Amino acid sequence: MKDSSKSGEWSILNRIHKDCKTSSKGPGKSSLCVGMGDDAALWRPRDGCDAILTCDWFLEGTHFLAARHPPEVVGYKCLARAISDVAAMGGAPRCFLLSLALPNSHADEWLNRFLHGLRKASQALGCPIAGGDSTQRSEILINITVVGEVARDIAILRSRAHPGDALFVTGRLGEAQYGLQLLLDNAQRIAPHDPRLRKHFYPQPRLGVGQWLAKQRLATAMMDLSDGISSDLPKLCQASGVGAGLNERALPVVKIHQKDRRKKFNAIELALHGGDDYELLFTVASKNVARIPKAIAGVPVTRIGEITADKRVVLARQNGDISRLQDKGWDPFR
Ligand SMILES: [Mg+2]
Repeated sequence: MKDSSKSGEWSILNRIHKDCKTSSKGPGKSSLCVGMGDDAALWRPRDGCDAILTCDWFLEGTHFLAARHPPEVVGYKCLARAISDVAAMGGAPRCFLLSLALPNSHADEWLNRFLHGLRKASQALGCPIAGGDSTQRSEILINITVVGEVARDIAILRSRAHPGDALFVTGRLGEAQYGLQLLLDNAQRIAPHDPRLRKHFYPQPRLGVGQWLAKQRLATAMMDLSDGISSDLPKLCQASGVGAGLNERALPVVKIHQKDRRKKFNAIELALHGGDDYELLFTVASKNVARIPKAIAGVPVTRIGEITADKRVVLARQNGDISRLQDKGWDPFR
């Protein structure tokens, strides 16, 4: 295809290659034999490892707003959230593929800033780019495919939770949704570096926690929380053919800043239904609960409930009420 413009497809692919190639170091390099520049990449899992494959859409208007989310944030977040699914299996990311559709108007400064954020995530999370494709379109469409590795037969699945297992979660829940609501609140101008936005802008996939749990063989089941625990816990339960009892009093909920106290933020509701936290939800056999430390790889872990044989997912409220947990988390079709 002949295209000599600055924003031509070939030029964009070259810029992605140039801007991201500095990240081709770290543990992934040994298994990525051929990166960008050929018809396809060549990747070879190491001996004794299973390959992990996952892909993730990140779309303007659905997952981010071009007017509210700085391009650096879009670049960082599209890769970090895709890598979270590798963390959820107990694995390590090795390389990624980027599919990118852009309007012509975004092929210059916006793209530079997007690639800056993407490179930051790629370096921080040890996941170099292996290839990509780009095209022109009226809105921004991003798809990321991540390739990861985990030692053979130790990947942690959603489907192995048993009645009697204890339920744990990492970090704090509701922090990303809190940031999103502040961002969407037209009444105030919030600076991009405001710490209340950090979790929404720069989620931290819990790779260290997932890998530790897999290596120790301590988690019976695990998933990452992308849609909110009220949506995600039922998915884990369904995959395992079990139910769960969630203890509201135990939930590690978002801390609402002093200056937002008078607004209508409800930390419990944010924690139950807020999406985008990318914390890990995992289950542990009761005989192993004492082996779970208060923090893993520097991330606090909290026991929040139990797995039950009764297939309902219920919430024990602080006032003693017990009711079915209503699924009010993120769903793009809702
Ligand atoms: Mg997931």
